[in-house]
Amino acid sequence: MHAFPDPHPDRRRFLAMTGATILTSQAGAAQDPPLAPPDKQPPHVRVPEPVAKTVGWAVVGLGQLALEEVLPAFAKCRLSKPVALVSGHPDKAKKVAAVYGIDPKNVYDYENYDTIAKNPQVDVIYVILPNSLHAEYTVRGLKAGKHVLCEKPMAATVAECERMIAAGKEAKRKLMIAYRLRHEPFNRTAIDLCRKGEVGKIKLITASNGQDTKAPNIRLSKALAGGPVEDVGVYCLNAARYLTGEEPTEVTAVAVRPKDDPRFREVAESVAFTLRFPSGTVAVCDCSFGVAGVRRYTVQGAAATLSMDGAFGYAGQELVLEKDKRKAKFDLSPVNHFAAEMDYFSTCVLKNENPLTPGEEGLADVRAIIAIAEATRTGRPVPIPR
Ligand code: NAD
Repeated sequence: MHAFPDPHPDRRRFLAMTGATILTSQAGAAQDPPLAPPDKQPPHVRVPEPVAKTVGWAVVGLGQLALEEVLPAFAKCRLSKPVALVSGHPDKAKKVAAVYGIDPKNVYDYENYDTIAKNPQVDVIYVILPNSLHAEYTVRGLKAGKHVLCEKPMAATVAECERMIAAGKEAKRKLMIAYRLRHEPFNRTAIDLCRKGEVGKIKLITASNGQDTKAPNIRLSKALAGGPVEDVGVYCLNAARYLTGEEPTEVTAVAVRPKDDPRFREVAESVAFTLRFPSGTVAVCDCSFGVAGVRRYTVQGAAATLSMDGAFGYAGQELVLEKDKRKAKFDLSPVNHFAAEMDYFSTCVLKNENPLTPGEEGLADVRAIIAIAEATRTGRPVPIPR
């Protein structure tokens, strides 16, 4: 008879030494717990509930954010389904459509984009293009009768933002600006703590957001409305607004553009800016395209200090409240920011509710961004018009 080699000789030797026996498939004594799982799904595994209606999404622009974050995040959505793509690169778009099960007939380019109006499968358009193109593709999307989620910053100018808001009103369609942090539990908890007075009167906020941006990149192009404030500084600005719940009235700012680094021919490398709020709170913010990377804020209140490391990243937020010499670290279940944000907007569409961050929210940031740019040029405090 042929002897098969023993696949577990070490385990058998160990069991023999300890006197233990190898388990067989025979049932054990009556009091032993069952080893095989029960017929029914164990209670700790959530069985998804079917949803009555899903919302069809078209993604406009297949760059890094769309390909690496947004499209994969649809797998974690309950209500939002990718059903169409808009791209200037037909081969890439076809390939991506095949991966996500999108009908090749639902792949558009930037010329025939407006014909998306005739596609009843598309409810929402997600604009993920360079900042300078947000206004045009948002307005065209709204005119096509679709709801629009537009990436931050909303647009390059106040006039563009106003046109986008007006287009939404005229088309009776919803416009939301993609501030994903408003849909993740750590930043939401920080806002709650500030609103409930846990830190007392907020005196100072410090916020930093930086990265090392390599060329070529849309963020380094003035024509595409790049720049550190527009790209990463907007997180500090938006956080100072959502943590205080106030609108800043005045800014000061300093920009640095090293002459020996060709990446910064058109935009600054770093900008430091301050925001003055009506209650007296001052926010001190900095942002950069030339640093290893810090993404954090601190809220210094009269009663406590709240801080968040990793505040602006896609994951890794760490929220700490320091009060009466004791530190409390918050243990919250993280979510996929993009899935949470998309399902939130789908809910707004299904329930006909106004989103938390409509065009007016994006416009408030753009007003401040424009004032910061002026302050860097003049070196003087600049009021932010309301
Ligand atoms: P990207 O450069 O990787 O992608 C931009 C896409 O736009 C590309 O597919 C490009 O082909 C296309 N495009 C169309 N017309 C173009 C033109 N005239 N010039 C250049 N590109 C053109 O950029 P990205 O990192 O995906 O960023 C896109 C947008 O998303 C930006 O507004 C950015 O601020 C925003 N963003 C948001 C987050 C977030 O966390 N919410 C993160 C990253 C980027």
